[in-house]
Amino acid sequence: MNAVVLDEWGGELAVEEVDRPDPGPGEVRVDVRACAVTRTIENAVQGGLSDDPALTPRIPGHEFTGVVDAVGDGVSLDVGDRVLAYFYLVCGTCDHCRRGEANRCTGFEGWYGVNCDGAYAEYAILPAGNALPLGETGFAAGAVAADGLATPLHVCERVGVDDTDTVLVVGAAGRIGVHLSQLAALRGAHVVAADVAPDRLAHVDDVTPDAVVPVDASSDEFVARVREATPADEGPTVVVDTVGDVDTLHNAFAALAMGGQVVSLTTHHDRVFDAPMKEYVVKEASFVGSRYATKDQVVRAARLFADGRIQPVVRRRVGLDEVPAVHRELRRNETFGTTVVEP
Ligand SMILES: [Zn+2]
Repeated sequence: MNAVVLDEWGGELAVEEVDRPDPGPGEVRVDVRACAVTRTIENAVQGGLSDDPALTPRIPGHEFTGVVDAVGDGVSLDVGDRVLAYFYLVCGTCDHCRRGEANRCTGFEGWYGVNCDGAYAEYAILPAGNALPLGETGFAAGAVAADGLATPLHVCERVGVDDTDTVLVVGAAGRIGVHLSQLAALRGAHVVAADVAPDRLAHVDDVTPDAVVPVDASSDEFVARVREATPADEGPTVVVDTVGDVDTLHNAFAALAMGGQVVSLTTHHDRVFDAPMKEYVVKEASFVGSRYATKDQVVRAARLFADGRIQPVVRRRVGLDEVPAVHRELRRNETFGTTVVEP
């Protein structure tokens, strides 16, 4: 079969002919129909999740959907089942796993597509516990749901976004940002969608409801523009940072409403946000980390697309042979919105 292979962390991706794998006990083989090509995967390719040389060569890719093609021993799934993948490799037995909080697993075993081969391939082996029901959701939409909508759903439920909120989305043109903006609006919140560059802001305007207000985060007037876009100029009650740009985050914190919450999705090792402690007290502000999503949230994210309540934003569909070039664009920061590979 054809697959996109990484020789070493931080190295180049190449399309190669490799043996089609067979599922072991507790695993299924999935005929891959769609896999999102994202910055999260580029971060993994650069060694941002693990840089253990023993894990390469590696086939990356984790945000994917497909059809079960073969099952190993002890698996209750059937050939023909439509599935979408859960990103984290979890123990299944710790207190958090038992409570359905797999994103907080304390026996964490790594990331699909990093600690084992992933889905930039015609076929992928998936632990049965990571094969979630796709239901009626389309394959490309499911690939977007796996992280692009599941992570926003976790954010909204973690901080309780509702119709009393104004949500400032920092990095609104990215796949997390566009789906978070739609979801927060669906939950009744005012949404202020911040990004930089006219093409990115135009994209946000195109793919989000009218109630979502795009704001240029690179403007000197950013804080004032954000406040003007919120009811009674009070500022956002929730700021969600999907980018990790510290200057923008300081500005967003300055605009934060009384009692507001700042949510970080940043996994860059080197970013530090050092707002004065007094500011937290005076505003009774909270800083909240939000980690991926539960398995239940991944399944419900796919249903939000299937029901038509949220629109999956896919900018481009490519074949496996184009994946290395898309990653080069991601590396040069030349692309935004979700690209999906259909092997
Ligand atoms: Zn666990």
